[in-house]
Parts: sequence; structure tokens; C-alpha cells
Amino acid sequence: MNDESSLICPDCSTANAPDAKRCTVCGHPFDALGHILDREQLRFVDRFSQHAQAVPETKAQQADGSRQRMAQLWEEDRQRRDALYAQKRRQQQQERRLLMGAVTAVIVVLIVVLIVLLAKGG
Ligand SMILES: [Zn+2]
Repeated sequence: MNDESSLICPDCSTANAPDAKRCTVCGHPFDALGHILDREQLRFVDRFSQHAQAVPETKAQQADGSRQRMAQLWEEDRQRRDALYAQKRRQQQQERRLLMGAVTAVIVVLIVVLIVLLAKGG
């Protein structure tokens, strides 16, 4: 059917029926709407494939990022606990020093009182 009224496909040179909307062999659209739809579909497919390619990478990056954030948080938490522990230990040492000082003071006072009593008695 290669007569005057047949539509020759510009892509594959196949003769199609005059009222054909698309090439029967390669699917090339013959009307403007078909062209637009094709282009939109291509654009959509393009976007979709780009998106599909981007998604796993972003997910991997997100997973990686959250892992790093977790590690960072864990490290910060550890440092905070270390600092708190060190502070607590310093406080305990200080309290012990204060207690030792108080005990020493009491002993000194007792010795002084004893000496005074002994001096009065003797
Ligand atoms: Zn064709």
C-alpha cells in the first residue's frame, strides 16, 4: 500500500494507512497530539528514570549520613558521660578533702583541749 495517500514513516520509512495515528512498525506518531504525548511521555520517563537513579543514591547517602550522625551523637554522648564522670570524681575528691580537713580540725581541737586540760590538771 505504497500509494500517494499512505503515510510514510520518517523514522523507518514504512508505509502506513492514511488515517494511521502511529507507525505500525516503530510506533512513530503522525499527528501533533501524538507528538506532544510522545514528548511528554519521554519527558516523564526521563524524569522518572532520573528520579529512580537518584533515589537509591540519596537513600544510601541518607543512611550513611544518619549512621555518621548516630556515631557522632554516640561519641558526643560518650564524651558528655566521661565529662560528667570526671566532674563527679572531682567532686567526690573535693568532698573527701573537705571531710579530711574537718576531721583533722576536730582532732587538732581535741588535742588542744586535751593539752589545756592536762596543763590545768598538772
Ligand atoms: Zn515507523
